[in-house]
Amino acid sequence: MATKKSQFDRQTLLQVLEGVGGEISFHAPLGASTSLRIGGPADALVVPADIDDVRMLVRQAKIGKVPLFVMGGTNILIRDGGIRGIVIQLTRLNRIRLELGDVLYAQAGVRMPTLLGQAIRRSLSGLEWAAGIPGTVGGGVVTNAGTKLGEMSDVLTAIEIVDDRGAVRRVDASELSFAYRYARVPKRVIVGAWFQLLHATKAQIESQTKGYLRYRKDTQPLTLPNAGSIFKNPLGTSAGALIEATGLKGMQVGDAQISPKHGNFIVNTGNACAHDVIRLIQKVRRAVSARTGVRLQLELKVVGEALS
Ligand SMILES: Cc1cc2nc3c(=O)[nH]c(=O)nc-3n(C[C@H](O)[C@H](O)[C@H](O)COP(=O)(O)OP(=O)(O)OC[C@H]3O[C@@H](n4cnc5c(N)ncnc54)[C@H](O)[C@@H]3O)c2cc1C
Repeated sequence: MATKKSQFDRQTLLQVLEGVGGEISFHAPLGASTSLRIGGPADALVVPADIDDVRMLVRQAKIGKVPLFVMGGTNILIRDGGIRGIVIQLTRLNRIRLELGDVLYAQAGVRMPTLLGQAIRRSLSGLEWAAGIPGTVGGGVVTNAGTKLGEMSDVLTAIEIVDDRGAVRRVDASELSFAYRYARVPKRVIVGAWFQLLHATKAQIESQTKGYLRYRKDTQPLTLPNAGSIFKNPLGTSAGALIEATGLKGMQVGDAQISPKHGNFIVNTGNACAHDVIRLIQKVRRAVSARTGVRLQLELKVVGEALS
């Protein structure tokens, strides 16, 4: 049985955070930083000002034995008791630069729509599949984000990480193994990534991107808080279709609802808590398994502690 972790005291956290620049807050609510608008507090939340702050934080957290969790916030469900240790948001690692004419380097806190926008501005093709994926570059690498049109691993050439000794290392994409919505990346913090793109006409890239965005608007519940797909698509079928066929669209636990628009989306219709979402997920899994024999696997990452 998993044991509940106790909160880290302010003194221990202050020692680990000594000299680390950026924004720091304690007992920081995380819900507002997630696309589902759900989640308990972090013992401490840090928004490092630069990569050197990340290096210092990683080194000192290792010495102080305080766990670190990096979040973008668009494919995670944070339980209602929050996250013990230090949560890192890389929103200030937001630089993008062009290298060698067709390679884009982006820091890990860059949002995928921003990266796509910069690629379009430079008439570079290869990231169109990312239209409408709201997460960060770092989260996109870890989840091998994508659609049936393409995915991270198609264009990623290397990542930049801060390893657990606090050193910055470049790791070639050939050293990572990718699967559907999964990448095996070295532990610790991704701080940047390189993408090999191709020159194309801006009009062509824009028209494709607009088409994908229109498709999302027509088929996904984008006006309510959600976390994208809840389940991975089983081989040869779609999780949304199985959920719809089982008659679960619109099913609700508290304010968490299976979207009437898309069976693989859970929306927060008001004040849903993580417990509601987890109960709804369990109900869906049981019903789909009973009707179709398929055991749905989560795409959503559930993290943190339940309330006692
Ligand atoms: C409306 C909507 C549509 C979506 N559509 C798609 C889609 O079409 N395809 C798709 O793949 N996803 C989709 N998603 C899900 C989500 O945007 C992606 O999975 C995204 O890649 C997650 O990025 P994130 O930065 O939010 O990471 P999070 O969800 O916060 O984290 C995911 C994992 O990555 C880790 N992580 C994040 N950043 C770092 C870092 N810098 N270093 C180390 N670890 C890190 C986290 O610890 C966690 O384990 C959608 C989400 C929404 C809300």
